Amino acid sequence: MVTAVVGANWGDEGKGKITDMLGEESDIIVRFQGGSNAGHTIVNDYGKFALHILPSGVFYHHTTSIIGNGVALNIPDLFKEIKDIVEQGVPMPKIKVSDRAQIVMPYHILQDEYEEERLGGKSFGSTKSGIAPFYSDKYAKTGIQVSELFDEASLREKVKGICEKKNVLFEHLYHKPSLQVDDLMEVLAEYKTMVEPYVCDVSAFLYQSLQDGKRILLEGQLGSLKDPDHGIYPMVTSSSTLAGYGAIGAGVPPYEIKRIVTVVKAYSSAVGAGEFVSEIFGEEADELRRRGGDGGEYGATTGRPRRMGWFDVVASRYGCRVQGATEVALTVLDVLGYLDELPVCVGYEIDGKVTKDFPTTNMLKKAKPVYEVLPGWKSDIRGITEYAKLPENCRKYIEFIEKELGVPIKMVSNGPGRHEIIYR
Ligand code: GDP
Repeated sequence: MVTAVVGANWGDEGKGKITDMLGEESDIIVRFQGGSNAGHTIVNDYGKFALHILPSGVFYHHTTSIIGNGVALNIPDLFKEIKDIVEQGVPMPKIKVSDRAQIVMPYHILQDEYEEERLGGKSFGSTKSGIAPFYSDKYAKTGIQVSELFDEASLREKVKGICEKKNVLFEHLYHKPSLQVDDLMEVLAEYKTMVEPYVCDVSAFLYQSLQDGKRILLEGQLGSLKDPDHGIYPMVTSSSTLAGYGAIGAGVPPYEIKRIVTVVKAYSSAVGAGEFVSEIFGEEADELRRRGGDGGEYGATTGRPRRMGWFDVVASRYGCRVQGATEVALTVLDVLGYLDELPVCVGYEIDGKVTKDFPTTNMLKKAKPVYEVLPGWKSDIRGITEYAKLPENCRKYIEFIEKELGVPIKMVSNGPGRHEIIYR
């Protein structure tokens, strides 16, 4: 059986923590999309870690951690992350890397930087980790698969072709130094040495594991609203963030994904540019940012301050729907204990009409939030382990959100730690 942990919002919902928790009862944890551009923050018995490419299962002895074919594989980042956690006392995890995963090349990172520079103020706010050029090349069929590292002659031919094309861009569009075939071949030889011990036919491994009754967990990066098809295009990421894509990016049958745990944040936050209807500003936003997450709302990879907002029912309901949520995990609820009142965005006013449906980006640009205000609970809910013991107004907030989402909230997270969770 396959379970997916995915985000309903703009990312940073706290998927890392939920995956880390559900990892306890899983055999295999798979990253199926994205790269090392976003990150999860995990607090567990070994300490506090920011993972960017490794699946959150690396902290368990009993799990196998997998980088699926859908991931943008940055090999140096992967090896740095393994080294870092081992140095902090975590036992060497069991890791497998799909032979069909494609490699983020140094020129993808350069291209990302050059393009941001060229666009100046009109840039997408990329993290400059090469993700967009990587996926563009993958679909233009000029990407390099891990399997190709093992055939040097044909790899060299391919790299020659890549240089010819890239150098037109690099020299004439960006006015930057050109790429050299020999340099790239040297880099690829290093990558081969690094990745070789882990290479695996992942979809065959997962197929067999399913036959053997193993429990597989798919770990999503970012959230529904950053999906290239269903999100706030073009301010999206370059690979699908949806559970449905898990079937492709990991290589498992779609009908095996039976449980889709969709992580919803008790307020809104977003990194980078893009439509964000319930965004708040000024002191109100600063206070929420300061109190948010675990030590403030700043990007796990970039350190950038996140944009803050009130809970958005319209976006979250849509986010759950496109994920195919079978249950919701509501996170960081503890953060809201300081508020007298909690505005919740229940509708969007567009051209004088109120809608409850999440529209396409051009409409979203015109949307103004319609709020309903709920009373606060004015207390610290950390340490509470039973739902019934939560303050009444806190339960009302949860139940209001549940009714609006139309999906059962089965877990409520009231602190960053692995066991700070209330089951319903
Ligand atoms: P992800 O990308 O979805 O995994 O989210 P991040 O890890 O970037 O952001 C979530 C942040 O919130 C991390 O710092 C977590 O440790 C923290 N966090 C997760 N759940 C909770 C919670 O219930 N309460 C608090 N206070 N922090 C939480």
